[in-house]
Amino acid sequence: MPFLDPLCFYFRMLEKKVETFNMNRVIEDFEEMSRNADQVQIQTLKDILLKNHSAIYLKNFGINETTTDPEAFKALVPLVTDFELEPYIQRMVDGDTSPILTGRPVPAISLSSGTSQGRPKFVPFTDELMENTIQLFRTAFAFRNREFPIDDNGRALQFIFSSKQYTSTGGVPVGTATTNVYRNPNFKSGMKSIQSLCCSPDEVIFSPDVHQALYCHLLSGILFRDQVQYVFASFAHGLVHAFRTFEQVWEEIVADIKEGVLTSRITVPSVRSAMSKLLRPNPELADTIRTKCLSLSNWYGLIPALFPNAKYVYGIMTGSMEPYVKKLRHYAGELPLVSHDYGSSEGWIAANVTPRLSPEEATFAVVPNLGYFEFLPVSETEKEPVGLTDVKIGEEYEVVITNYAGLYRYKLGDVVRIIGFYNKTPQLKFICRRNLILSINIDKNTERDLQLSVESAARRLSEEKIEVIDFSSHVDVTTEPGHYVIFWEVSGETEEDVLQDCCNCLDRGFIDAGYMSSRKCKTIGALELRVVERGTFRKVQEHFLGLGSSAGQFKMPRCVKPSNGKVLKILCENAVSRFFSTAFD
Ligand code: AMP
Repeated sequence: MPFLDPLCFYFRMLEKKVETFNMNRVIEDFEEMSRNADQVQIQTLKDILLKNHSAIYLKNFGINETTTDPEAFKALVPLVTDFELEPYIQRMVDGDTSPILTGRPVPAISLSSGTSQGRPKFVPFTDELMENTIQLFRTAFAFRNREFPIDDNGRALQFIFSSKQYTSTGGVPVGTATTNVYRNPNFKSGMKSIQSLCCSPDEVIFSPDVHQALYCHLLSGILFRDQVQYVFASFAHGLVHAFRTFEQVWEEIVADIKEGVLTSRITVPSVRSAMSKLLRPNPELADTIRTKCLSLSNWYGLIPALFPNAKYVYGIMTGSMEPYVKKLRHYAGELPLVSHDYGSSEGWIAANVTPRLSPEEATFAVVPNLGYFEFLPVSETEKEPVGLTDVKIGEEYEVVITNYAGLYRYKLGDVVRIIGFYNKTPQLKFICRRNLILSINIDKNTERDLQLSVESAARRLSEEKIEVIDFSSHVDVTTEPGHYVIFWEVSGETEEDVLQDCCNCLDRGFIDAGYMSSRKCKTIGALELRVVERGTFRKVQEHFLGLGSSAGQFKMPRCVKPSNGKVLKILCENAVSRFFSTAFD
C-alpha cells in the first residue's frame, strides 16, 4: 500500500468534504436559514457592506466601515436601475481597476441576455456569485432529490452552451452569466457533487457553433441513454428547441450510431475529436432508437422513449417560458416537469423547494443569504420597499437586490407575487417583467397580458390542430391611430377565416380597461396579426446569438421596439399574411 502523507490525506479529506453532498444536511441548513430569515438578512447586508464599503459608489453616498445596519444603508443609498449603474460598469469594462462598485476588482463581467431592451447589458460577476450559484444548485437539488431520487452513477442530459467569452478593450473577460459559470473551475466539481455530470464532453459545451453543439448534446444523450437521470436546459424554450431539432436530425443521429462515424456536419475540430472518441459502431442501439422514434405518435412521450431511466425534465418553465410548457409536456409524456429556480445574471434569488408542483403552480423560496432583498410594492400608492420578511401574502412586488457583486438597491425589473412563507422566508411566484411592453396612450399591457391574449387566440387555432410556435409583438405608431402588431409563427397551413378569428380573439384578449376603451373609441387602431414564414423566429434567435447572447439563456423578445430595427426587419420581411381585427367594428 503506498505511503500516505498525513497532510496530503487531510487535504484530500477536506476536498472530499467540499465535494460530498449530504441531502439531509443541505435541507437542514436551508430549514435553519429560512427559520431565521430576518436575522440572516441583517447579517448578509452587514457582510456585503463590510466587504465593499471602500467602493467608490458606496463612498459617494456616505457609506463607511461603520455603516452596517439596514436602516442607515437604506437612508443613504438610493434605489436604482441598470440605467444609473451603466456608467460605473462601463468604467470596469474599460479596465479601470479602482474599487468602483465592489471593494475588489471584479474578475469578469456578465452580459445579460437583454433581449427585452434589444441590447445586451453588462453586470459584474464575482467569486461570490459563483459560490451562490453552487449553493443554490445544491439546495434545489437536495429538495428535488428528496422527491425524485436519482441514481448515484447517473448523468444529466444538459443542453448547456457556453457562448463566446471575449476580453474587453480594458482587459476584463466578458461573457454571459452562464458562460462565466460554466467556465469557472468549480463548476464541474459542483455538478459532479450533485450527480449531475453532463453527458456531453466539455468541448461540446464550449463549442463556438451552437447548432453543432446541440446536435452533439442530443447524440451524447443517446449514447448515455440508460444513465440519463434527468433532462435539463436553463429555459423551457431551450428544451423545446432541442427536441424540435431532434425531430429533424434523428435519422442522421441513428446513422452516426450505427456506423460509429460522426456526421460530416460537425466540423469544429475539438468537437469532432471529442465526439469521435465516444462513438463506436452500435447497430443495436441504432435500431432501438429507430424503432422507438417510429413507434411514437406525433412524437408524444419522446423524452422517456429516448431516456428510459429519466426521472424528470428540468428548466425554467414559469413567466415568459409558459408558452412552451404545452409542447414540453407533449415531449415529456408522463415524466414530471420540474421548474428550475429563480435568478438572473445579476444574482440568484430563490430556490424551488417544492419540486412536485406543476409549472403552473411553481413557487420559489427566497434564499436569505444570497443577498439583501427588498420588495417594492407594485400598487401605485405604495412607494417604499419592504424587507424580505415583511412582505404580504397575495401582494405583488418588484424585486430589489443588494448583493456581493456590486449591486445596491438595484431594481431588477421583475414582478413577483407572494404566495406564502417557507418558515420565515417568502415563497414567490414569478409574474412578469415590470416594463409595460405594449402601450400607446392610456393602455397598459405587460408581457403577461400579451401571453394571455396569445393563449386564448391559440386555442382557436388548436381546434385546427395547429400550434403557435412562437410570437412577438410591436407597437406601430406610424399609422394614425397607432395599433398593436402581433407576429405569429404557426405550425401549419390553415384557412384565412380561422386566422381572422384568431386576430379578433387577440384583440379581445387584451382586457385592460385602457386598451378596451381606446379601441372602442378608436384612439387605438385595429390589432394586426402578421403570420410569418416557418423558421423566422429561429432567424431572430440567431441574430441575438450573433450579438453575444447565449443559446442557453435566450429569451424571445416579446415586444420589438423601433430601436431594435434588425429584429423588426426580420419579422416584417418574413410576414406571409396579415389580418386586421374586426372585433371592435
Ligand atoms: P438574464 O438577464 O438572462 O440573466 O435573465 C434573467 C431573467 O429571467 C430574470 O430577471 C427573470 O425575468 C427571468 N427568470 C429567471 N428565472 C425565472 C423563473 N424561474 N421564472 C420566470 N422567469 C425567470
